[in-house]
Amino acid sequence: MPELPEVRTVARTLDRLLRGKVVEGIRIFREKNVLDGAEHFRSLLLRHAFLSVDSYGKHLLFHLSGGSAILAHLRMEGKYFLREEGEEKGKHDILLFELSGGQRLVYQDVRKFGTLEARKEEELWDRPPLSLLGPEPWDADPEETFGKIHRSSRPIKELLMDQRVLSGIGNIYADESLFEAGVHPLRPGSSLTRAEVEALLQASSSIMKEAIERGGSTIRSYHPEKGVDGRMQLFLKAYGHGNEPCPRCGFPLRKLEVGGRGTTFCPRCQKDPGKPLLIGVTGTIASGKSTVARYLEEKKGYARISADEIVRELYEKPAIARQIAHIAGDNAVEGGRVRKDVLLKRIAEDPRLRKRLERLVHPKVYKEILRRIDALPPDGKAVLEVPLLLGSPIEERMDLILFVHAKEEVIRERLLARGKDPREALRVSPSFDRGEVRRKCALLLDGSSSLPSFLEEIKGIPYL
Ligand SMILES: [Zn+2]
Repeated sequence: MPELPEVRTVARTLDRLLRGKVVEGIRIFREKNVLDGAEHFRSLLLRHAFLSVDSYGKHLLFHLSGGSAILAHLRMEGKYFLREEGEEKGKHDILLFELSGGQRLVYQDVRKFGTLEARKEEELWDRPPLSLLGPEPWDADPEETFGKIHRSSRPIKELLMDQRVLSGIGNIYADESLFEAGVHPLRPGSSLTRAEVEALLQASSSIMKEAIERGGSTIRSYHPEKGVDGRMQLFLKAYGHGNEPCPRCGFPLRKLEVGGRGTTFCPRCQKDPGKPLLIGVTGTIASGKSTVARYLEEKKGYARISADEIVRELYEKPAIARQIAHIAGDNAVEGGRVRKDVLLKRIAEDPRLRKRLERLVHPKVYKEILRRIDALPPDGKAVLEVPLLLGSPIEERMDLILFVHAKEEVIRERLLARGKDPREALRVSPSFDRGEVRRKCALLLDGSSSLPSFLEEIKGIPYL
C-alpha cells in the first residue's frame, strides 16, 4: 500500500498534469468506489477546473474551481494516469475524467479498494476521515504524540501505523523509522520514553522526506505517470531485508508478524531494554546443537537453557512418572522415575502413543522454558537449545534462530557412539521443513565436521 511519500509523489505528478484542465465529462465504470454516489460526484465537479492537487497522510486532495474538491485514497493498487484519446478502456478502470484539450485522466484499480469522493472544499476537514487524522510526522507536537503513545499498551509498530496518532506511516516506513530510532517494534507504547518518541518523530520525518525527494518507493502500487522505478528500495535498511545482516551491527535482521503485518528489525540495535537477548538453537538430533550452546555458555557468557535437560528433570518427578506409566505402561517407569530407553522403544513402535506423550510433556517444557526466560536479568543473554523450536509458543521470543544440521551418516555414527539405536532415535526425532527453516533461521550451521573445526566455524561468527 502506498504510504505518505508515494501518495505525495502521485499528488505532485497529478498537480503538474492537471492544473488548469477543465472536467468536461465524467464516466464512472464502478460506482461502488465513488462514495456519496455518482450523481453527487458529477454535480459537484462537472465544468470545474483543477486548481491544484496535494495530499495529506495517505489521502489525495484535488482542489477545483467553484469550491469543489475530491478526496481520494489509493488503498492497495489504485493508480491515476493520462490516457490519450482513442486509447481503449482498461479492464480495471474505475472512472475516467474527460478533460479540456482532449486528454483523459483514468483511475484504475486492480484490487478495487480505492475510493473517490466529491466534497465542498469547506467540508473537507470537519468530517471523517480527515477530521480523525493525526498530524503528519513533521508537524507533530512531540508532547502530544508522546501522550497518545504513552497511554496505550499496544505495540509501538501498530501505534505508528494508527492514522489517528500520526498520518501517512504504513508498514514500510514504520519498520524503517523504528530501525532508525532503535526502538523494538513490539514494545508497548506505554514503555517508551519521551526521548524515544522524539527520536521516532525525527526518524519518520527525515526518512519520509528523503523518500519524497527520491520520488517515492515503487512497490507495484503507484503510478506517478506511466513509469515505475524502484529507486526507493535501495534505500530501505530494514524493510524487506529479513535474515540479512543489520547494516549497522551485522546481527541478522529478524522478521516477525506484528498484528498480521511482516515486521523486520534488528534484535540488537532495537533491543527491548526490558528483555534479555535470546538465541535459539534448533536442528536435527545429534547434529551438534549442544556443542553450539555450550560454546556460547562457556566462552561468551550466555546463560544456557536446554529443553532436553528440562525433559530429563521432568522424568525424575514421581507425579509425571505416574502419568507416563498411565499412558505408556508400568514398565516405562521404575522406582518413581521414567525409564527413557523403554519409553523410546515404545514410542518408536507406536506413533499414537508418541502424540499422547507429547501432549503431556511439551506444554510443561515450554512453560518451564518461559519461566527460566522470565527469571533472566533484562540486560542478560541466553542460548536456548530446543529441538522443537519452530512453530512452538516460544519461537517468537527468540532474537535469532540458529539451525544446526549434519550429514545422516555422521548422525548415525554419533548415535551409535552414544549407545543408541540410530533407527529408533531417528524415527522419534522431529523432521524439518526446508522452506520453514530457511525462512525462520537466519543462521544455518553444518555440524558434520569434527568438533574442533565446528568450534572454529562458530568462533568465526562475529555477532555471537
Ligand atoms: Zn543492528
